[in-house]
Amino acid sequence: MKRKVIIIGSGPAGLTAAIYAARANLSPLVFEGAQPGGQLTITTDVENYPGFPNGIMGPDLMDELRKQAQRFGAECVFKTIDKVDFSERPYKVWTSGNEYSADAIIISTGATARLLGLKSETELMGNGVSACATCDGFFYRDKKVLIVGGGDSAMEEATFLTKFASEVIIIHRREEFRASKIMVERALANPKISVEYNSNVDDIIGTKETGVTSVRLVDTRNGEKREIECDGVFMAIGHDPNTKLFNDSITLDEAGYIVTKPDSTYTNIEGVFACGDVQDHTYRQAVTAAGSGCMAAIDSERWLEKQTH
Ligand code: NAP
Repeated sequence: MKRKVIIIGSGPAGLTAAIYAARANLSPLVFEGAQPGGQLTITTDVENYPGFPNGIMGPDLMDELRKQAQRFGAECVFKTIDKVDFSERPYKVWTSGNEYSADAIIISTGATARLLGLKSETELMGNGVSACATCDGFFYRDKKVLIVGGGDSAMEEATFLTKFASEVIIIHRREEFRASKIMVERALANPKISVEYNSNVDDIIGTKETGVTSVRLVDTRNGEKREIECDGVFMAIGHDPNTKLFNDSITLDEAGYIVTKPDSTYTNIEGVFACGDVQDHTYRQAVTAAGSGCMAAIDSERWLEKQTH
């Protein structure tokens, strides 16, 4: 069945687009994807979303956004789009062989956690290795854990992990942190947190049965290797945009993010709009994603209006 608007992705960008598109009587169909609610569903407290002076839990915020969109007529389905065809209008998208079409498409597929690429990392994922401290921290009560990265995520997650772990060591490949000063200060003030600077993870040691038992580090200055005993390793080394689906059809930048026209959510394809982290590697905040979701709905509404006149 043909829709006016299909939204691919359900983080703050996609669901805000759904609220605005629904209120504009565009009856949007939202494909929620593999992680309904997006990255905020794997965080705990969101303290910087305006309007919540006491913070709100990430999953709760996303539930509220979804309810708000549905209240105005958005339809949200827990399916993942695996193929698109933007070569002619109406545009087509597929989920497990089922075809849907729409006059306008809003892409809000977000970004995914980056991994180091070690064999041991993949083998031990879920058995001592995790890319989500907020999901798995609970399992490390009174344990010693490592967190890899030097950005805001690493600082935030290191601090979060101290709620459970007895000791948290940040592994950073440089001498200086990329993270904001306030986040670094907060992390370093915590007596459970220490830092191994100028260090990369060379290998993760353990088995599925034992879990992680230690990590081999390599000094980035002189190549010297050393081993640290630990019970878990958390990756917090950034994210990659979820754009594989659009490789052949939409203009991406060198890092794989969708390129949008300045001050808008227009992509290189008329009637296909992009919002949220999939087109933003600068701000990457829930509130900026939501703001650009609003822009995408308004852009699509105005563009659709023009097509009928
Ligand atoms: P990020 O800022 O890109 O930082 C990634 C970190 O991982 C960097 O320190 C980087 O090292 C390191 N890294 C990357 N690849 C690596 C590798 N292969 N091996 C070892 N280390 C590696 O990512 P992020 O921390 O996830 O933050 C993303 C965005 O979200 C940022 O804009 C951040 O401000 C924002 N954020 C905000 C909050 C908050 O305000 N509450 C919380 C979380 C995130 P180098 O520094 O050497 O490149």
